[in-house]
Parts: sequence; structure tokens; C-alpha cells
Amino acid sequence: MPLSDAGPRILLRRLRQIMAEPGSGQERLDKIVRQIANLMVAEVCSIYIRRQDGSLELFATEGLNPAAVHNTHMARNEGLVGMIAENGETVNLPDARSHPSFSYRPETGEESYHSFLGVPVQRGGIVLGVLVVQNRTQRHYASDEEEALQTIAMVLAEHLASGDVQGVSGYAAARGRSPIVKGQPLSDGIALGHVVLHEPRVVVRNLFGDDLKLERRRLARAIRTLRQDIDRMLQRRDIAGPGEHRDVLDTYRMFARDSGWIGKMREAIEKGLTAEGAVERVRNDTRVRMMRHADAFWRERFRDLDDLSDRLLRHLAGREATAAGEALPEDTILVARTMGPAELLDYDRERLRGLVIEEGGLASHVAIVAKALGIPAIGQARRIIEAVEAGDAAIVDALEGEVHIRPTADVIAAYSDKVRFRARRQKRYAGLRTDPAVTRDGERVRLNINAGLTVDMPHLAQSGADGIGLFRTEIEFMIAPSLLLRDRQAAIYKRILDAAGGRPVVFRTLDIGGDKLLPYLAQEKEENPSLGWRALRMSLDSQALFRTQVRALIKAAAGRDLDFMLPMVTTIDEYDRARALIEADLDWSRGRGWPQPERVRIGAMLEVPSLLFDIDRLFARADFVSVGSNDLCQFIYASDRNNARLAGRYDTLGMPMMRALDLVAAAARRHDKPLALCGEMASRPLEALALIALGFRSISMAPASIGPVKAMVLSLDAGRATGLVRRLIDEPGERASLRDELAGFALDSGVEIDDMARPPRERRPA
Ligand code: PEP
Ligand code: MG
Repeated sequence: MPLSDAGPRILLRRLRQIMAEPGSGQERLDKIVRQIANLMVAEVCSIYIRRQDGSLELFATEGLNPAAVHNTHMARNEGLVGMIAENGETVNLPDARSHPSFSYRPETGEESYHSFLGVPVQRGGIVLGVLVVQNRTQRHYASDEEEALQTIAMVLAEHLASGDVQGVSGYAAARGRSPIVKGQPLSDGIALGHVVLHEPRVVVRNLFGDDLKLERRRLARAIRTLRQDIDRMLQRRDIAGPGEHRDVLDTYRMFARDSGWIGKMREAIEKGLTAEGAVERVRNDTRVRMMRHADAFWRERFRDLDDLSDRLLRHLAGREATAAGEALPEDTILVARTMGPAELLDYDRERLRGLVIEEGGLASHVAIVAKALGIPAIGQARRIIEAVEAGDAAIVDALEGEVHIRPTADVIAAYSDKVRFRARRQKRYAGLRTDPAVTRDGERVRLNINAGLTVDMPHLAQSGADGIGLFRTEIEFMIAPSLLLRDRQAAIYKRILDAAGGRPVVFRTLDIGGDKLLPYLAQEKEENPSLGWRALRMSLDSQALFRTQVRALIKAAAGRDLDFMLPMVTTIDEYDRARALIEADLDWSRGRGWPQPERVRIGAMLEVPSLLFDIDRLFARADFVSVGSNDLCQFIYASDRNNARLAGRYDTLGMPMMRALDLVAAAARRHDKPLALCGEMASRPLEALALIALGFRSISMAPASIGPVKAMVLSLDAGRATGLVRRLIDEPGERASLRDELAGFALDSGVEIDDMARPPRERRPA
């Protein structure tokens, strides 16, 4: 018999009474099944609960043989009940016994029942059990009966999750033990701590609504606020341009106006739920079904909807949009679906141990900031949001790219050892901080750091580096919400110079374009971005942008040394033209009476192989040359530096690279000009050894590499290394790489090569 409109509300009211009455959890389950059977006019109502091994145990029944309670167990996937638990889907059959999955259990005495309606009892996408009603007659249960049973299942899920029912190991056990989620390391390190969800999930406890009108109003208001939020986000200048983030928000906007979704929530309120109960109810309805959808497109859409439900719940609960303003545990592992760079900066650095992002890639801006803050971080951690709950213990292993959720005691102990070991090593490097990097035979090597944000600056003092060999100016542009005008830029550069406290800083002019798109600038997507309209090519064509930056740098460096460095120089003519523009701006600023920099140098980056074949003309005019080995290597080997499948395929110590660098070092000596190298290569002790052997006396690297590289320098006899490298390069033969010989040399002569210190991946802004 279909339920009347008031039916679900009466049922919910009765359930609430049962929950409030004294008694054990088991007694409540017994009352619940009796009540449901009564109000739904069903001859049978049973609750099956999932055990740790995935089997389902009959926990309470009205109508089946009471002796079967706690004695009937369905194996995982067995029978209709097993099927519901496995698929998370409702099953409604007029004649259950003719279904191929039906499994007959004589001890229950269910042979006389034909019709069957079973719904999963689930919470947070995890199936905790199955709720079933059965009737003797062959009938198809009406859709409002299905819905009523699903709503009751939601209430039941809360009851089970509370741990009130003896023998139910609870929500955490049902969620699975200690899964490992794999991802891509964004910022190296290991962190142990507890999960904080960047966008907190509200746990709905208050499901029963007393005041229909009030709940309708609350839902309407929350939907309105949600829509306004999304519209506001879409108007923000930093996301106004095209791109993936924009597509996601457009989809959000569409869903936030979806009448099907909103209609279902309204209906749920009419049936006696609170506004938050209704949001949760509709979300549960779609969750497991959609997440098991084979089609990735639909799974993604559901995740959007899931996210919107979370936002609605936060509005209803009056909670902040992000956890940044909340009290954080001291060992916060921040977990986010997506996150902007500025959002990460809102968190208290002191409490952040690790970061896991479901979508962020190595090139994302938040990865750049995580790296700058020195927070171990993992991106592309698929399904992490579903796998964790706020407060879960977690380990972020950003060396291997793994997140251990709710780790076992053994895993925690192993990682604690690793962390202690790393800390001891860091302590040793910290002890070298103030020692100059001089080789055993007295060669002074300048060890600089690469930086790109104001938050990078403390690394200079912490690492004991000599200066900043590469300041990537585009990074501040990439995280800014809108184009940085001259005075804003000048303020940033001045802050950098102030923080450097007289140590040299080499400012690279904007290296944007290609795939480093600024969201607020209209730029076209290109087929081959790294070979495209980027860096100096763009600066020479869009002179306003370049000259604004040049003037900002001149202004910031009044009374101090100013080093310009030009990226991606491809022809000598490009260097000459850029130099002429800088000189014109220096004249312009003098004409306006600006206080001038003490000394100006204009250097070129050597990143494009064409310059190797015009090297004397380059050294004849550039004030200094710095090799950008990341790009040089990708162009020499025609191997995309961002393609994971090619990573490590071509050796940076291979003969082609070694001969190229030897040629550059020889030209620097001929012209008596300063030479440096500022690519990732300098971060690895063995590669740095090769560079010193070739004659490089200034290298610039990730801050965390200063310690291991300095330890190498202090234990090195540079003369002997040069002798060996010279011989190996000049010797005719079949040698493909210097790697083995250099490693052997280091081992034999006691040069410290810290293999454990995996080279910190350099930040790749694009
Ligand atoms: C390089 O190419 O080596 C370099 C230092 O520049 P970037 O990594 O910013 O391209
Ligand atoms: Mg480069």
C-alpha cells in the first residue's frame, strides 16, 4: 500500500522518538524495524550490517525468524542484500525469488515472501549495511515508498556511525583500513600529521525538521548565497579568462540552477527533513551510483555536485568557506580538491606540515607556493577527498608521491625513523651554513639559490647561500589576481633587495608566454608552447610589459647593484635589442631625476642551443652569461622537460651536454666574463661536481640543495676533478656519459655525494 504524503513525516517523527528513548543500540534497531514494518504495511523489515570482511550480518528483523538474528551471514556479494551493498543501489522487485542473485536462507523462513525492497545504508559514500522490507504479495513498491526507505536508511546510517550499536565496528572500520593514495610529488619532504579539509565537510547531525516553512526558507537562502558566490568567483579577474578552472565554475553555475537537483531537495524537506538533511539525502542518493559509473565524465559531474552540496551545507551551518580561519592542529595535513596560491598563504605556516591536492599538478601555482614555503606536497591525488575524513592521521610522502591514510603503527614507526634521519642530516648541513664553499684545493664556489616569491627570501639566510642566482620574476605575476603595475612591481623588487641585505640578486625579466599564461592577459594557446612566443620573444614584441618591468627594477634598485638577466635569448640581435631598450629606460629614468642603481649589468641566459654556435659574439657583449640547463637540456635532447615519460631518459652528464657546457666555460675564460648555471642540474651533488670540474664557479639551485652541494664542494679537490673531466672529454672513444666515472672518482677520493638527498625537484612555473 503506497504511503500517504504524511507517511514519511510520521515515520521520521517516530524514528526520532525511538532515538531519544533510553535503551541499547540493539534495542533501538529492534524498535526501528518494527516501526517501519508497521507504517509501511510490510510483513518483513530487516537490517543487515556490513562486517569488516565485507560480509553482511542480519542484525534486526521484524517478520523473519528471530533466531536468525546474528546467525545469518551473507558473504560479500551474496544474494540480493550482498548485491545492494556492493553496488550501493536500491533494488525493488515484485518477485525476489525469480531474481538470479536471490539466495535462499532456510533459517530465516523467508520462503513465503515475494516482493522485496532493499536500500543501502550509507554514509559518506560508504555502505554500512542494507535495509530491507518484504511482502507476501507480488507487488512493485511505489517510488515514494522507495524514497521513504532511503530517508530512513540515512537516519539509520547516522545511528550506526555513532558507534552506539554493539558489534558494529563503526564508520571508520567500514571506510577501509589504511589506504594509500598515489599522486605526483610537488614539493619534496615527508610529513606526519592529521587531516584538515581545506573546504570543511559539515557532518549533518540534525536530520529531522520540525518547522516546514523555516526549512524551506533556509534552503532557499542557502541556494541563493551559493549562486551569488559562484557568480562572484566567475567575475574575479584572475579567473575571468578561459581555462579549466573556468569550465569547472561554469559547470557549477549550471548545477546551482539545476531544477532537478533543487526540486529533489525541496521534496525531501516536504517529507520531514531539515534543509541540511535534505541536501545530504539527495547527495547520498546520487553518490555511490554515480561514483561507480564507468564513464569518467559522469563521475566528474557528480564530484562537482558533491562539492556544491558541501558548499550548501557550509552555508546552512554558517561555517567559513575554508578552514584557514579555524583552529588548526599543530600537525595539519591540508587536503584540498583544488586550491589557489593565495589560499595556501592564508594558512598559518607554523601549523602546516603537508599538503595534498586532488587536482594540482607540478605546474600549478599552488605547487609553486608550497615549494616556496617548504611544505611537502602531493598533487594529482585522485579520490583523496573521498578517502579521508577530517582528523584522520595521515603521512605525506612527497618523495615517493604517496599519501598513507590512517597508517598502521608499523608504518608510522618507519616514517618517524625516516623523518628523524632527515632531520639529523639537515642539522649537519645547518652546521655548514656559515662556512664559505671552498674546495680542498682552495677554489671558492658561489652557491646561490633560485627564488621567485617574497616568501622565498628567508631561505637565503636559512641556507647560507651567497645570493640569488635566479629570481624568476614571472612567478609573482602568475599568482597575482591582476597585472602588476609598475609601482606594485617596484615595491616587490625592493622588498626582495631589502631582504637580500646586500647579497647579489639576479632578476630575470619576464619568462612568460607559451604555456606560462597569465590568466588576466589574453594569450593564445600554442601547439608547441616551449618553442613558442615566450620570454624575450614576447618582451621584444610587447615592449610596454617589458619596459614597465625594466623601469620598476630601476626604481627598486636605486643606490644598489642591479642585475638584469634575459631569458631564452636565441639570436645575438635579440640580446642587442633588449639591451638597447634597457639602456633607453635607464636614460629615461635619469632624465626624470630618478636616483640610479649603483651599477647595472645585463646578462643573457644560455638556454637555446643556437647560442652555442655564436658563443664568442654572445660573450663579447653580455655582461655575464648564465646557463639555463633545464631548457638547454630539453632543447639539446629535444625532450620535453615536463613529460614524465621522458624524465631521466637522457643523461644530463651525457657527452652532448658535457661538450656543450665545456664549450661555454672555455668561451667565458677567453672573454674573461662571469659565467653561472641556474638549472636543476646544479641542485644535484654529482652534477655540481661535473660543473665545477668544467670550470663553473657560480651555480644556483633550489635552497634545500645548498647543504648537500656545499658538503660536496668542501670535500672536493677541484684540480683533480678538472684533470679527470678534461681527459674524459678529450679522449676519443665510445663513452656516452661521465656519470659512472664521476661517481667512481667521488667514491675513491672521499667526495661527499648525498644520494639520500634526492634532488629537490625544481619548481617549474609552467
Ligand atoms: C632553465 O631553463 O634552466 C631555467 C633556470 O629557467 P626555467 O627553469 O625557469 O625555465
Ligand atoms: Mg628556462
